Amino acid sequence: MYSESAGDEIRIEGLEVYAYHGVYPEEREKGQRFQVNAVLYGDTRRAGLEDELALSVDYGQVCLYIDKWMKENPCKLLEAVAEKLSEAILLKYDLISALDLEIRKPNAPIPLPFGCVSVRVRRGWHRAYLGIGSNLGDRESYVNGAMQALRTHDRIRLTRVSELLETAPYGGVEQDDFLNGALEIETLLSPEELLDALHEIENEAGRKRTLRWGPRTLDLDILFYDRLVYESDRLVIPHPDLENRTFVLRPLSTLAPGYRHPVLEKSVKHLLQELEAREGAQQHR
Ligand code: ADP
Ligand code: MG
Repeated sequence: MYSESAGDEIRIEGLEVYAYHGVYPEEREKGQRFQVNAVLYGDTRRAGLEDELALSVDYGQVCLYIDKWMKENPCKLLEAVAEKLSEAILLKYDLISALDLEIRKPNAPIPLPFGCVSVRVRRGWHRAYLGIGSNLGDRESYVNGAMQALRTHDRIRLTRVSELLETAPYGGVEQDDFLNGALEIETLLSPEELLDALHEIENEAGRKRTLRWGPRTLDLDILFYDRLVYESDRLVIPHPDLENRTFVLRPLSTLAPGYRHPVLEKSVKHLLQELEAREGAQQHR
């Protein structure tokens, strides 16, 4: 993953590709020379120990793929080449967890002497944990439908699923029991894009945003996203209040007991133990 095993690098330097990217008609027709630099991040340990190409990324194949992709997908902007090509590479090669990709255009149409222009991006798979819940209608089929939607999303891989727990509702609204679980995903989406994707899946399940903490056909929350601490007007990561919710921590602790909450600096397992101790103490009062 991006954050964990991104240590090993396979480097491609100065790959020459003749292609047709540019804003001007002449660039689109005649084409020109591009140079590509790429750093492919992943784990080369096993390939190294066993000296076996099948366990690594074949850089020859990657070069041929870059050449083919750049010839077949003319873009106006270098930004678009870098963005779309890096995603295509990440989707095609499972062993690449992240990459730096630089597209250089040494003969760009600039009416002044210059060295080179280029765009460089870093893109990769991010690991996130999601909370999933439903307490209205056919709860199991809403949860299964959401998991299917995540599985078939181009930019999301559903890697692990917790067991589903039956839990009493939270927040004081009179309603049916919840079915709750946690999911581990890998995604190419940014946090805000991921939230949009989750809202889309919720909406497909017929969710109406009415009562806070009220009944819902489907609730999908971002619990953690890499080691990110993030706050905007519509998204807070880690998910606020997660440390006070048994129905979140219990399934999550089966997937990621050792994950350290980046703000509270405690593991999921530790947070669950503390919460259960607090709840136990309340019951004995
Ligand atoms: P809840 O999940 O707290 O029961 P909702 O699902 O109705 O309630 O969420 C209300 C709003 O919370 C969403 O519209 C979303 O913008 C915001 N939100 C803030 N942080 C997160 C997060 N980490 N994951 C999901 N939604 C979030
Ligand atoms: Mg929610």
